[in-house]
Order: sequence, then C-alpha cells, then structure tokens
Amino acid sequence: MDLDPSTRALHGPEPLAPGAPLVPPLVLTSTFASAGDPADVPLAYARYGNPTWSALEDALGRLEDARATTFASGLGATHALLLALMRGRQRLLLLRDGYHGVRELAKLLAERGVRTDLFDPADREALGRALAEEPAVVWIESPTNPFLRVFDVAGLAEVARSHGAPLVVDNTTATPALQRPLDFGATATVTSITKATSGHSDVLLGSVATRDDDLHERVRTWRGLGGAIPGPFEAFLAHRGVQSLPLRVERQSRTAGALAGRLAGHPRVLAVHYPGLDPETADLAGRQMPRGFGPLLSFELEGGAPAADAAIERAKLIRPATSFGGVESTWERRGRWPGEVAPDGLIRLSVGLEAEVDLWRDVERALDAR
Ligand SMILES: *Cc1c(COP(=O)(O)O)cnc(C)c1O
Repeated sequence: MDLDPSTRALHGPEPLAPGAPLVPPLVLTSTFASAGDPADVPLAYARYGNPTWSALEDALGRLEDARATTFASGLGATHALLLALMRGRQRLLLLRDGYHGVRELAKLLAERGVRTDLFDPADREALGRALAEEPAVVWIESPTNPFLRVFDVAGLAEVARSHGAPLVVDNTTATPALQRPLDFGATATVTSITKATSGHSDVLLGSVATRDDDLHERVRTWRGLGGAIPGPFEAFLAHRGVQSLPLRVERQSRTAGALAGRLAGHPRVLAVHYPGLDPETADLAGRQMPRGFGPLLSFELEGGAPAADAAIERAKLIRPATSFGGVESTWERRGRWPGEVAPDGLIRLSVGLEAEVDLWRDVERALDAR
C-alpha cells in the first residue's frame, strides 16, 4: 500500500490485535524472562533490544522504506555506522563544511588509523579522483548544517558506487519525512533524532537507516556491544514526536521559506542560506525534497559577531539556544562554537510552529540597530 508519509508515520501494515494498547507501551526493564538458548527467545537482555525502541524504529523505517536502528544520540549513531562501514577501509571522505561534531569524531578516529580527507561534494570529479586512490567511505549532508547547501545525492551515489564506496547521507536537517536519500542511491542515512525528528527539544537520540540487510546487522552488533543504546523513555517520547513529524516539518518549511525570502530583502542582511534560494541548486532541492526544505535557515548579518550577538539578545519570542528543529523557534550565532567554520556574523535560525507574522515581527525588532 503506497501511503503518504503523514499516514506512514502513524500506521504499520498490521492491524492491532483485539485488546492491544493503541499506544506502544513504555517498557522499562533491563532483562526479559528466558531460559536455555538466548537465541530461542525474541529478547533476553535489554542492551540488545526493547519493544519501545522497536516501535520507534518501525515508524522511522516506514518513512524511509528501510530498517532503522536507534542510538543514544546522533553522534552515537554516526560512530557505530562509521565503525560498521570502515571494515577494510581506512579512509573517510567527509564533506568540508558539515556538522562540526563529525569532524571532531574523525580526529579521534585518526588516532586509530582512520585517515580523513575533507572534500566539497559539489566537485564530483575530485571525489572520483580521491576514490580511485584507495577504498573509502563517503560521508555527506544535504542540506548541510549550517549553510543549507544542497548536493546531488544521486550523482554522488553513482560516483561512489562505481568505486565500490558506500555513500552515507546525514539526513538530520531535512528529516526522513521530507527527504529519502536511500531512494537516490545512498547506502545508509544517519539522523540526529534530537533535532526536528523528535521535535520537542526534550531528548537526545539518533538513528541509522539502510536497505542493506548485512549492514543493518553489523550496525546492530556495534550498538549492542558498543553500548550506545537509547533509553526507553527517550524512545517513547521520540516516537510520539515522529507521529506529528510530517505535519510539523511541512508547516516549519513554509514559515522558514517565507522568513528566508523576507530576510533576503532586509538591508542589514548580507546573505541568506536556505534550500531553493540558490538558483544553481533550486531545481535539485525541489526534486530531492518535494514536500519542503525543513525548519533550518541561516543568514549573515552586517557588523559581525557583536551585531549578531546584539540581535539575538533583542528577540522576545525566538529563544537563544543551540540545536534546532523544536516546536519553539531558536537561534544562535554559530561562530561561538570552537571548530565551527561559519563566518562571525552568521546566525542560524530554527523555525518553530509560531505564526509567521509573529516571528517576522520579532526578527525585524531584533535586527533594528537603533
Ligand atoms: C546535531 C547533529 C548531529 C549530532 O547529533 P546528536 O544527537 O547531538 O549527537 C549530527 N549531524 C547533524 C547534521 C546534526 O545537526
């Protein structure tokens, strides 16, 4: 049955058995009744599985037509997926200007012999040359955090595949409701559920999704033995968030697109970054994310760090905070983080569920230098 994402976020293929709870229960246990060979029971010890995780993973899997594995955080998911893929490969080709935490993790892995090269996914020929040298894992984001650049996933997947390299797409900014990189040939996606996917700024969680059964099993093994497992309560909350994910991100995309357009006309704004605004990638963004471009945008304010800090302080509705994708709008000056490559005056705005008119009034007030 070909269901819309809003429906798939809510319904599995099986009807509920009579007497089954409508809401998958929160199962708090460290162990399950079992005796004899543990392989003969579905669950024996809770580091290897929990029904509350499974309910969340089923919902995420339905959105991506894949098998999902959840972790204690987005970086926990990133770590396990990297280790699962780096078998027989010592090289990581990582996009230059993505989430800084992944670059920091790669630095730690360098001490274990993993060589990381930063590359620009807009340059497909350079990727082909790098892949011709030795086996590697290719890791990108689209749209990127915090510049919201959009890359051609199908084109990059083709280059990677022709060299036997897996392509990973970090799908955090778009979420599985707005973009399905596996449809464009990616080997796996990783999502920080912490952001819009759970959407209520109350949990840290992450997930890996893939259609490759062998990779799925290896990722599960790394989770079970690496131990970066989700808490059942966090999984319960995130599942509740996923039920409204398609609805939330569609509304957030509409408001974010409108605010991006208005910011582009503001006299104090030097540049606005939002998918669809760059004429070179606008068509591509529309093909890869036909339902909307997500809650995140960024813009550069004249006057650098002091001007950006002052604007953030003046806002009354938009809260000053890092992270993104919550129901309430937040913003921050990205350059305050060590290791971030953003210019000093860049503000990253996460658009929540408030009315566009109220948010724009708040932005105008905040940007008013007088
Ligand atoms: C936040 C984020 C991560 C890391 O996720 P955590 O849940 O904080 O560990 C990874 N990738 C991107 C693009 C992110 O925004």
